[in-house]
Amino acid sequence: MVLQYRYSKKIPELCVPAGNLKILQYALEYGADAVYAGGSRFNLRTLGDNFTIKELQAAADYAHSIKKKFYLTLNAIISENELEDFKAYIDEIKNIEFDAVIISDPGIMQIIKEIIPDMRIHISTQASVSNHETVNFWGALGASRVNVARELSLKEVAQICKKSNIEIEVFVHGALCISYSGRCMLSKYLSGRDANKGECSHTCRWKYYLMEEKRPNTFFPVDQDKRGTYIYNSRDLCLIDKLDMVVNTGADSIKIEGRMKSENYVSTVTWVYRAALDLIKNGEFNRQKKSALLKELDKTTHRTFTSGFMFSGSRKSPELADNDNVGYIKKYRFSGSVKGFSEEYNGPVILARNQVRVNDILDILQPGKDPVKFKLEKMVNARSRQFVEVCNTNEEFIICGLGKIDKMSLVKTKL
Ligand code: SF4
Repeated sequence: MVLQYRYSKKIPELCVPAGNLKILQYALEYGADAVYAGGSRFNLRTLGDNFTIKELQAAADYAHSIKKKFYLTLNAIISENELEDFKAYIDEIKNIEFDAVIISDPGIMQIIKEIIPDMRIHISTQASVSNHETVNFWGALGASRVNVARELSLKEVAQICKKSNIEIEVFVHGALCISYSGRCMLSKYLSGRDANKGECSHTCRWKYYLMEEKRPNTFFPVDQDKRGTYIYNSRDLCLIDKLDMVVNTGADSIKIEGRMKSENYVSTVTWVYRAALDLIKNGEFNRQKKSALLKELDKTTHRTFTSGFMFSGSRKSPELADNDNVGYIKKYRFSGSVKGFSEEYNGPVILARNQVRVNDILDILQPGKDPVKFKLEKMVNARSRQFVEVCNTNEEFIICGLGKIDKMSLVKTKL
């Protein structure tokens, strides 16, 4: 297959999710060029923390102070009876300097254009844009960027990039829906919570039984492995080892999924994709580096990875249909974040997010540096100043003798 690339050496923007202001700061420190987040209403993650109007302003100010970008997601399907509320909300946020708003509906685009005429508009993957004619249709309406459907092949993405008049963005990492680009009624049908209004109850990850119609109260187990049953679960998308090929399509932005994820998850994934983009830029993205980056991603809690539709070769790829072993994989636990430094014990003060014990194998990730792995030999409770064997969740401890580490460092424990 010979792909016609629009650009050969352009490094795309790294666009990362944030569920709150703290995660936004971690994402930007760990190498994101842009962060996308939802306000308290009209986005597809209404069950996450999300940002108040004051926090949206603070997020935009923070991102701009370090020359990064901040996008607001407004991609929920808006019903007739929500229109006036939606207009009032846009009126409330109209003075915040977002670098773009992310939408999926032409009517919503029109409202935003009327209230904030010079706002840049990005089209969400929820719009399922699958060809360059649709991209250019959105461009003619005034959109600046389209996040194309996750169901496209690499060749299709490259062709769309070549023939499009506006920017193209692609998802490279994170959870996938079993439905087409998030258009799903399963959650609404089974739990009354509408995924298209940001209320998904992740119904596809529930445990299901088999029932024969004439024996209504007899449930036969559907067993896959000892951790459970995942008949509707999808694998998680991960394109790290093929990122050079994605970059070569000419895409303008690569995007990571996960607005409900912790700072540990977002920082680790951002660190990995930033490192990969920098290696690609320097012509150093080789097999050894790919494998090291994949090992870092494996320190996050995730489902079995897939390279998704982009590299499936056929939409009937067995990897996409095969849902064996798609429960969560967890090899590391998030153990804490830095609160300060103790001169007395020459080590960082860590707020424990999970229990930590002497002899644990710790792994410290810092922005822009290689991870450090070591056995915890001595720790002091930061309050009592006593040497301790165990530190419980929400207590602070000092790692004796480690020296200074970055204030945004994150500590993990190998399980
Ligand atoms: S229920 Fe599953 S497939 Fe449906 S929107 Fe939620 S995560 Fe996606």
